[in-house]
Amino acid sequence: MNAPVPFNRSSLQGRELEFIFQSISSGQIAGDQTFSRRCQQLLEGTLGIPRALVTTSCTHALEMSALLLDFQPGDEVIIPAFTFVSTVNAFVLRGARPVFCDIRPDTLNIDESKVGALFSSKTKALVPVHYAGVACEMDPLLALARHHGAAVVEDNAHGLFGRYRGRWLGTLGDLATQSFHETKNITCGEGGALLINDRALIERAEIIREKGTNRARFFRGQIDKYSWVDIGSSYVMSDVLAAFLFGQLQCWDTIQSNRRDKWLRYDEALTSWAAHNDVRRPFIPPHCEQAWHMYYLLMPTAAARTRFLAHLKERQISAVFHYLPLHLSEYARRWDFKPGQCPVTEDVSDRLVRLPFYNTLSDEDQARVIECIQQFIV
Ligand SMILES: *Cc1c(COP(=O)(O)O)cnc(C)c1O
Repeated sequence: MNAPVPFNRSSLQGRELEFIFQSISSGQIAGDQTFSRRCQQLLEGTLGIPRALVTTSCTHALEMSALLLDFQPGDEVIIPAFTFVSTVNAFVLRGARPVFCDIRPDTLNIDESKVGALFSSKTKALVPVHYAGVACEMDPLLALARHHGAAVVEDNAHGLFGRYRGRWLGTLGDLATQSFHETKNITCGEGGALLINDRALIERAEIIREKGTNRARFFRGQIDKYSWVDIGSSYVMSDVLAAFLFGQLQCWDTIQSNRRDKWLRYDEALTSWAAHNDVRRPFIPPHCEQAWHMYYLLMPTAAARTRFLAHLKERQISAVFHYLPLHLSEYARRWDFKPGQCPVTEDVSDRLVRLPFYNTLSDEDQARVIECIQQFIV
């Protein structure tokens, strides 16, 4: 009997344990200590951005974005219908009305040709999600947002270290959010970051992250006491987690090239099987360098997906699917969206499968996954 192959598994990638020990030994395990600063400096230096703030999650970095952009009840946010709930929830928490855009059938990213019609005088932000770490068509999206006076927040949970026309993902919008959740390329279990590309938002971001106080300025010695100056919450990451995160971030290029090898191995091994079975492999536009976040397949029908997942499960291989169309979810009923409104999202959501893909997926296990897939006839 073969050992089960999980969908995801977290692992040590570098000096995580040594750094956690250092953090605890230093006696300073709250936020904004040595390792948080090191993570932030690494992100700022590598991506060439003015400010990165590590946070408790990507969800929280998205919530910070909604606070920073002063979202008020009735304001609108344009997001893809095919994404994780946090992308939209962070804005809905502030009373925003979601405006769902359909996705492109090739990259599964927000369809830039359909975004223009969705702007109104109430649109405050556009939130593209770089699905699977493959860039959205950012040039037209940025131009549309600028034309309509809306901010751009990149939900870059999948896309850290991917590029669009040579530019890093996460550096293109006014703000960008990262996730270091266990399922992402680089992790500390639960964690995130807010990348701030618009310098005018830096000081207020520090305040919102620190419970609405100017504690960051106090720590820098710019003021002699800190006080309540704005709304905010507790979005600071513990330095123990930042120590784990820095252990991984420090070897980001090794992690990425390892994932690249595994991604290409799936893609090459499955090319001919996919062609024979009417299964579509991921599409990466030539001007996008992907972030190697996931390997997915699009089965020809929903029924084929059900059989395919059962076939893999019988062989102890854990493959999963996501996302359910947000505009048709239970909570979205209050806004009266209709089936058929985002046809590509609705179709893809029924047919997508994500294969096991993680940093320590062994060659043997990956070979077994590939072999089991090749035995499946659609
Ligand atoms: C994982 C993910 C999030 C949420 O990340 P957390 O760090 O778990 O809050 C948000 N958006 C997308 C697209 C994600 O994949």
